[in-house]
Amino acid sequence: MIREYDNLEVWFVTGAQLLYGGDAVKQVDSHSREMVEGLNASGNIPLRIVYKGTANSSKEVEAVMKAANNDGKCAGIITWMHTFSPAKMWIKGLQALEKPLLHFHTQYNAEIPWDKIDMDFMNLNQSAHGDIEFGHICTRMRIPRKVVVGYWKDAVAQKKIAVWARVAAGVADARNVRCLMFGMNMNNVAVTDGDRVEFEQRLGYHVDYYPVSSLMEYYKKVTDADADALVEEYKRLYTIKVDESGEDVYWEKVRNSAKAELALRRVLEDEGATAFTTNFDDLGDADVDAPDFCGFDQIPGLASQRLMAEGIGFGAEGDWKTACLYRTLWVMSQGLPKGCSFLEDYTLNFAGDRSSCLQSHMLEICPMIASDKPKLEVHFLGIGIRKQQTARLVFTSKTGFGIKATVVDLGNRFRLIAQDVECIEPKPMPNLPVASALWIPQPTFETGAGAWILAGGTHHSAFSYDITAEYWEDFAEMTGIEFVHISKDTTIESFKKELRINEVYYMLNKALK
Ligand code: MN
Repeated sequence: MIREYDNLEVWFVTGAQLLYGGDAVKQVDSHSREMVEGLNASGNIPLRIVYKGTANSSKEVEAVMKAANNDGKCAGIITWMHTFSPAKMWIKGLQALEKPLLHFHTQYNAEIPWDKIDMDFMNLNQSAHGDIEFGHICTRMRIPRKVVVGYWKDAVAQKKIAVWARVAAGVADARNVRCLMFGMNMNNVAVTDGDRVEFEQRLGYHVDYYPVSSLMEYYKKVTDADADALVEEYKRLYTIKVDESGEDVYWEKVRNSAKAELALRRVLEDEGATAFTTNFDDLGDADVDAPDFCGFDQIPGLASQRLMAEGIGFGAEGDWKTACLYRTLWVMSQGLPKGCSFLEDYTLNFAGDRSSCLQSHMLEICPMIASDKPKLEVHFLGIGIRKQQTARLVFTSKTGFGIKATVVDLGNRFRLIAQDVECIEPKPMPNLPVASALWIPQPTFETGAGAWILAGGTHHSAFSYDITAEYWEDFAEMTGIEFVHISKDTTIESFKKELRINEVYYMLNKALK
């Protein structure tokens, strides 16, 4: 089991009715139990599924839905109609349900028992029309849900449930996320800003300003001994690479970076925060020569890199939406192999059908996506309030397919944009000592980048090798925000139509609510 999912579970509720007698319900119950045990034993679903019995009446449905709402461990509900379960009995329960819903259209037996099938069998094994009846009421009531169709022992179906369960865990976590903004978002930047009240209503994330002066109180209190111990950890984890700064400056900057990391860790822990943003113009006292100066001597990029790898959401330049989204991405992809990172569209590389976009940031890329052991380097960074020698981890990313995602505020709604990308091998950049990735947006550079711009996407994104668009689709479904996906099948013509149609849909949707 994965630690982040330890305190969560998914409930499994089987729809039935008493029309066919108590014996039928007992059989439904034992089949359901066997199926839930099988799903748990499959090893394909990282959250524990808990069987909650059959629901045979409106009262029973309502009771189990309300219990799910009130149980902090319950990340979502899976429903399955073994027999015909007249769907009017689901109305009040579905009205009450606040947790994510997955409707599993499956059947206890795989194949028809041709030589034994009789009317008793038919009265019991009614998923074929029971699930259709349930689907109708969900659609009529506009209930957001994921429909998974497949045999319960089939790994393909199980993995679709796993995606939904991981996303449900991310959504449950999002409700507990507190994102600290150390400084505001950068002056005049539109795409990193938005409606933080609506953001919390829709997605659960709570975004707070946190005074940099208070962070500096923590920084002042970090002891040399604590910093030295952390530097020893750096030496174990990374390749030490002293360049033009020289030994003295190198170790001074690395040690101060360790102090900044410890200060940030302590604030996040004391405040119960799991995401943060920084602002490179707001690093404590402005004047380094002032008496009693207190401030970071450099942008705390190394700290941001390392905290991201531990699941702390990060957004540069006050980008609170990307910080929160990264946190959720990390939670959803726990236990998956290749990693995730905050990234920024950095510079374009026009090269025919291999045209690509360099992904980097001045410092803050997560080392989980590194292809090799990161190098700890110190170089001059001429941006922000401190133009200083600055510590950072340098590496290039793994290659292969992945997905970038962002959430933008369109004024009347949030839009989640996901885009498939292919990370390719970059060439050496001896004069740009930063962590980076190089990718080709799908379906092609021209169409992919064009569609992203038409959708109003950000220059920052939350990137992962391990998850797919299906995750973000489930996330948008659970949170009720718009979802668009730029994939190998995207054309500009169809994508523009989708954006126009969505515009109307969300205007009407808002008017109806
Ligand atoms: Mn940036």
